[in-house]
Amino acid sequence: MHRTFVRCRRLFTGLEDAARADQTLVVEDGLFTHVGPTAAAPTPVEGDRMLDAGDNLVLPGLVDAHTHIVFGNARGEEDIDFWGTPEFRALRGLFFAQRVLAAGYTSIVVPGDAGNCSISVRDAINAGLFTGPRIAASSNVIANRHSLNDWFPEHVGTPDYVTGRLCTTPTAQIEEVRRQAKAGVDVIKIAMDGAHFREDGTHIAAFTQEEIGAMVAEAHRLGKKVVTHAYGKEAVLYAARAGVDVINHAFFADDECIDAMLKSGSHVSPTLTFLRNNVEFGQGHEPTAGSGYQAMQRRVIEVAKRTLTRMRQAGVPFMTGSDSGFAVTPYGEWHAREIEILVDWLGFTPAQALRAATSVSARAMPRGGTLGAIDPGRRADFIFVAGDPLADVGVLQRPGSVTAVHIGGVPVAVEARRYDPYKVTHLSSLKWTDVYTRDRAIELGLWQTGAP
Ligand SMILES: [Zn+2]
Repeated sequence: MHRTFVRCRRLFTGLEDAARADQTLVVEDGLFTHVGPTAAAPTPVEGDRMLDAGDNLVLPGLVDAHTHIVFGNARGEEDIDFWGTPEFRALRGLFFAQRVLAAGYTSIVVPGDAGNCSISVRDAINAGLFTGPRIAASSNVIANRHSLNDWFPEHVGTPDYVTGRLCTTPTAQIEEVRRQAKAGVDVIKIAMDGAHFREDGTHIAAFTQEEIGAMVAEAHRLGKKVVTHAYGKEAVLYAARAGVDVINHAFFADDECIDAMLKSGSHVSPTLTFLRNNVEFGQGHEPTAGSGYQAMQRRVIEVAKRTLTRMRQAGVPFMTGSDSGFAVTPYGEWHAREIEILVDWLGFTPAQALRAATSVSARAMPRGGTLGAIDPGRRADFIFVAGDPLADVGVLQRPGSVTAVHIGGVPVAVEARRYDPYKVTHLSSLKWTDVYTRDRAIELGLWQTGAP
């Protein structure tokens, strides 16, 4: 078996804060077998492959702890759930997973997707049929009345092909955990709150402490990790007490929640990229501007900055996720923005944020301890980055800054294929975003007859 020697002028292992100078990595059979100073490296023999990273910084492959690979850059929940067959969504998901890989993300955690789509994409990649990132697959988001993913009116419910799975009794909840475990998920996603509020505006959890406790215990018994959507204090507290592995968002958590998270070892994945992109990119003509959604998100961000800074100071471990798969977070584009948010908004140093995006986020992957770091015995997923993200993490978002991606020691080439979004993503029957009353037509200068 031939080895690959990688000469690194500068190396960030994902386990330490400082970059190391003049290191050599040896990769054998998909694993790092040696990491150390070039002066003390093993001697290459005939047939070994030599790779020089040049001026690039060498980093572990990045991990996105929150990417929905079958959402298809959706413009709304109907895009996600109604348009496109499950089979088409899986094929499209594979294509988009490759775009994520090309951005330097060698591992993706999928916190909820329809049916067996992400499981199938993962299996096709793992079988060697296609190039792609490592995927922690999931199935439907376990939802309850009032939680995220129970979007549609009661008469629609959650048919099989949608992302949510309404489970309104403890028996149904446990059965869904078992169904997903048998289907082969890596993670179970539970929507702990969403759209139900008290008069004072605080979120009401969609499951009781007993319900989430029983689901998490069963998922863990079956060897599956659990991730939750949880904005409100109550949802975060219940999730932490139940031992949920990754709590997404947690924007309205308080000190009691933080204590419970520290006790249970729960991680937080803020996934603020989605909100930041909404408020910074969503233009005036978007429905989100008129409905007050953007204004609400702006307020949530201000609370989140304070909550999550306290969480960092208390020692809760952070993961990085982008919520890619929406029109405002398209695949392959903004994944590294979450790293920048940890630095800009939550007081992380660049090195701490990069550790969150590598060795810490890898913990949400199956056999996560074998990923996320450049260290002997771990899988040889690594990238070359032009520029110095340890000084400015923003360079990771610059087009072309990721100059090479290796997964299991194998260089990855993803063709930059153009596609027609109207055939791939914009499948809905939406035809107008405005209502053309006579008043509106006059206002727009489109019609004069009858003007007063
Ligand atoms: Zn999400």
